[in-house]
This record gives sequence, C-alpha cells and structure tokens, in this order.
Amino acid sequence: MATSRELFNVRTPRDALAVLLQTLPRRAESEEVATFDALDRVLAEDIHSPADLPTFRRSTMDGFAVRAADTFGATEGVPAYLEIVDEVLMGHAPTRALATGECARIATGGMLPERADAVVMVEQTQEVGPTTIESLRAVAPGENMVQVGEDVRTGDPMLEGGHILRAQDLGGLVALGVTSVRVARRLRVGIVSGGDELVDPRQEPGPGQIRDINSYTLTALIRRDGHEACLMGIFPDDYAELESAARRALASSDVVILSAGSSVSARDMTGQVVDALGRPGVLVHGVSLKPGKPTILGVCDDKAVFGLPGNPVSCMVTYDLFVSPTLAYLSGAVTPPRRTLTARLTRNIASATGREDYVQVRLSRDADGTLEAVPVFGKSNLIFSLVRADGMLKVPLDAGGLNAGATVEVVLF
Ligand code: AMP
Ligand code: MG
Repeated sequence: MATSRELFNVRTPRDALAVLLQTLPRRAESEEVATFDALDRVLAEDIHSPADLPTFRRSTMDGFAVRAADTFGATEGVPAYLEIVDEVLMGHAPTRALATGECARIATGGMLPERADAVVMVEQTQEVGPTTIESLRAVAPGENMVQVGEDVRTGDPMLEGGHILRAQDLGGLVALGVTSVRVARRLRVGIVSGGDELVDPRQEPGPGQIRDINSYTLTALIRRDGHEACLMGIFPDDYAELESAARRALASSDVVILSAGSSVSARDMTGQVVDALGRPGVLVHGVSLKPGKPTILGVCDDKAVFGLPGNPVSCMVTYDLFVSPTLAYLSGAVTPPRRTLTARLTRNIASATGREDYVQVRLSRDADGTLEAVPVFGKSNLIFSLVRADGMLKVPLDAGGLNAGATVEVVLF
C-alpha cells in the first residue's frame, strides 16, 4: 500500500528516468504531414536529397558572367576588355553561350551561360561603351558563382530520423520539392488533476479552495513539446473517483499524468492508483530532487504513467525532468528540445549534497554586459516564482551549493 510508506528509497533523477525508459516500449507510430506544417515535429525517416541543388550554375553577385581566362592578368591599370552579348533574365536561361572575349550581364541568382565559368562583380567593372566593359580585376574559374550540387547533391544524407524539424530544415526540404514528410505521431497525454481543494479556474474559489493551475501549465508544456493534452478534469481525493478517472485516461491516451497526491500521507492515493492501473505499476516513488521529491514514475500496460507533485513549481520542474524526455524518447527524438545558456550567478545558493536542486533565476546584464543569473527565491509553492523567472539552474547532486560568481548553465523556460 502506498499510503503508509515513507520515501526512503529515493533514486537520483538520472536513475529514475533510466528505470522508466528501460521499462517502456518505444512505439514508432508515424504519419505523413505537409512539410509546411512540420515545424517542431520529429522526423520519422532519414531523408536523402532527391536532387542536386542548385540545379543550374548560379551567380552569387550582380555583375558579368565571363570566361575566367579572358580576365587573367587584368588590373585597374591594365583592364581586360569584354563584349556584352547578353543579359541573363532572372528565371530564364541565357539566350546564348559565351565565346572568347564575351560576357553577359547577370544578377545574383541568375543562370550562368554555357562556357562562362566565373562572374566579375559589377563594382570591379567599368562600362566604356554601350556594349563594352573593362574588367578591373582577374577572376578565377568558379569565382562568384555556385556549381550544380554545391549546396546538396542527389543522394546526400540530408536529415536523420529523430531530428526535430526547424525553419531552415523546412526551407531545405521545399527547395528540393519535398512537400510532405513522415513524422512521429503526436502523443496524447491525459491529465487527471486531483485535490479536494481544487476548482475550475472560471469559478470563484470558496474558503479554503484554490483554482486548478496544473491542468493548464501541464497542457501548455505538452503543447510546447509538440504533443496533445487531454484534460480529464478535477477529481476529489477519493480513491474510487481517482482510479476510474485514471483508467479512462489510460484507455484514451498514450501517456497519463496524475497531478498531486503523489506523496505518502493518507490523503495521497496516486501511488495506489498507479499500482492498480496495470503492470508493473509504480517503478519509482521518490527522487532526490528539490523541488519534486514525491514524484512517481510508473508503467501500466506499456504506457508511461506519472504521479507529479501538486505544488505548481514542483509539477513544472518534474514535468521538464521526467515527462518531457519521456515524450521525446517515445517519439524517437534524438535531441531534447531545450535551450540553455551560461550566466554568472549573483548570489550563493545553499543545497544539500545527495540532492539535485533546481533554482529559478531571472536573467539580466551587469554594467559590462555580462549575463547574470539572479535567483528568484520564494516559498516553493508560489507559481509567481516561475512567472518572474526566465529559466532554472541545476545545483548538481554532489554539490553542497553554488557560490556567487560561479558560471552556471541556465535552462530557459
Ligand atoms: P499534493 O501534491 O496533493 O500534496 O499538493 C501539494 C500542494 O499543491 C497543495 O498545496 C495543493 O493545494 C497544491 N496543488 C495540488 N494540485 C494543484 C493544482 N492542480 N493547481 C494548483 N495547486 C495545486
Ligand atoms: Mg493533495
């Protein structure tokens, strides 16, 4: 029974996650989506370039397409004289090839005429007659132009399965005419919010009641991670009600989060519910972490089930540490989508060894422009300590704290 035990057998955050992921089968369900809609989705296939890019030789400057040999030795004092025989229009092929001593006016991105092999920048030329220019400089073959396939070649590995698609990836794909891609299916995450004190945010709380925060912060985090949240509702601290809500969530979702009731008092029933939902049930109950010690990680019928602490700060921190990487793992994502930066800590932070601490920080710049991490201290159940923060930093397991002036890594919210 989960009700009377204490959290003696706590695991480190890293071990806790490893135990969960080892027990969880990785399903590779995928779907085809339009490339235009694939931002932040996890690519489910390796993509090799179906074509050369560019498909034709292109100028990288405004100027004149030339045969490089015709400019050899040219200087301002002794320029090379060239005859303008064509103007290459954007979006069109040149009308003719170049013969010795000839050039064609060309703009950036224009298609080089046959037998041209370089471009002289317009700034390095002088027009000396209606159809004659001086090239004031020599250009080498290949200068100021890109070759066919210089960007990417047919068959080149382009993007690997597991990659999270960014704007430039979508750009590269559409450039090659790849207008649909196979991506990991979005996971559906059911959220059950437990607590006698909770009311819907649209309601005015009565004495002793509070508005449900976690259903909405969790929904936002799940969407940020590219998945779909399904709110099951608010449930009282009643075993039968919680279990039936959790069962419905498990049946209709890929992953379940039970908010609150994850500790060990008589009113905390999440552990018991997870054990009842399916096998093997609770894998981890208690993590050496602050905030977030009373966290439950479980697997029921091959699905991940989380019991996150109800304190809104703990709930968000433990989502980031455990739920977010699990969703990434299940989607086959290779890189976790988190951004970090380094900053200088402005104050000492105390911690206990053997526990990982996460401290909210605000970022600002000192007089020299150095980025500073200013701890946002507050009692741990204050949602506004998160609202006022830009990110959080980790005080490692074996550190007794961090000193003011230390360079720290901040995970951005
Ligand atoms: P528990 O995890 O049930 O021990 O709850 C810890 C603290 O978090 C208590 O102060 C709860 O009132 C609060 N809490 C629980 N669930 C929520 C929620 N959904 N939104 C805001 N606060 C909550
Ligand atoms: Mg509670």
